[in-house]
Amino acid sequence: MKVLVTGGAGYIGSHTVLALIEAGHIPVVVDNLSNSSFESIKRVEQITETSIEFHENDVCDKQALKSLFSKEKIDAIIHFAGYKSVGESIAKPLAYFDNNLNSTLSLLEVIYADSDPKAPKFIFSSSANVYGNPEVLPVSEIAKTGEGITNPYGYTKFFCEQILKEVCVSNPEFQAIALRYFNPIGAHPSGIIGEDSQETPNNVAPYICQVAAGKLSEFSIFGDDYDTPDGTGIRDYIHVMDLAEGHVAALNFNSKGFEAINLGTGTGTSVLELHSAFEKAAELTIPYKFAQRREGDIESSYADVAKAHQLLNWKSKRTVSDGCADAWRWQSHNPDGYGKN
Ligand code: NAD
Ligand code: UDP
Repeated sequence: MKVLVTGGAGYIGSHTVLALIEAGHIPVVVDNLSNSSFESIKRVEQITETSIEFHENDVCDKQALKSLFSKEKIDAIIHFAGYKSVGESIAKPLAYFDNNLNSTLSLLEVIYADSDPKAPKFIFSSSANVYGNPEVLPVSEIAKTGEGITNPYGYTKFFCEQILKEVCVSNPEFQAIALRYFNPIGAHPSGIIGEDSQETPNNVAPYICQVAAGKLSEFSIFGDDYDTPDGTGIRDYIHVMDLAEGHVAALNFNSKGFEAINLGTGTGTSVLELHSAFEKAAELTIPYKFAQRREGDIESSYADVAKAHQLLNWKSKRTVSDGCADAWRWQSHNPDGYGKN
């Protein structure tokens, strides 16, 4: 299939572009490089020995999209493009609603998703954030969404899912699959591509990595008084290559209208366990201290993965230790990300 990958130069996008090529698909990447570097695409070309069609465009720019669709026959869209920082979304809610909603709306309008029976299949990057604070664990797709979301970023994912559902009602032929990612970690095992954090990371895995690399002095564990076995928060850390392969599996799935599917491992890992897995992978002592709970954080979240297995015939294969080892390989080979090497 020829697959339009928006945000394909970013962290998850670049790994998915690689997985698409390995599975024999043809990616066409659109990215405005607002949070990425063209170097990631060059690196994927190097690993796959394949040249990649790349367009430096904003996905909110409908004219640019129209021009692209007039020249290309696109079979499916994987829509990663968007802003992704929970903390930043609280400080800049309008920028988040603007970019994350308008990029999705532009794409849907340009492909006439609400009326054209031949509109390309649409795979959307959603997030476990839509569940807010889940009542039942592991959290399955039938759990309530939209209630208890603690930040504008989470609302953008929830609203985009609602938009996709309504568009599917208007056009029964339209296939929209919202993949609800849990917590991506790791990098391609080559250490050639990975997560390029230009600023101090908010997410736990890149933060620990940068402490291990000596770029940050100490890692703060947010809360040691949760009702969990070791008192620290629990998440479902999924290797980015497993996540990438989940997208390839979703391309092969024919949904009847809208479908939301969790992409996680099904296993919860505490912050202390993650820290210890990183120490083992890097063979280093990584200094940490306990700090107050971070505002808006939930205690525990991990995925019920039965639906992904049933519908996509997909399961995660890699462990948290694999993720830590691969993240560390990327970090140690590329101390400044794609910037300077
Ligand atoms: P990323 O920032 O590395 O990638 C996003 C890419 O989109 C970047 O390359 C950026 O330049 C591009 N982009 C942003 N706005 C754009 C626009 N208007 N037009 C064109 N390009 C634009 O983020 P990521 O971690 O790879 O996340 C990809 C998607 O997955 C995002 O939608 C994110 O919200 C979602 N997601 C990420 C996580 C996570 O923890 N990383 C978890 C759940 C969901
Ligand atoms: N966390 C932490 N220190 C950090 C960043 C995160 O202890 O510097 C914890 C956080 O409280 C949560 C887990 O790590 O329990 C995952 O946080 P992250 O921001 O990576 O993902 P999210 O909260 O969005 O699931």
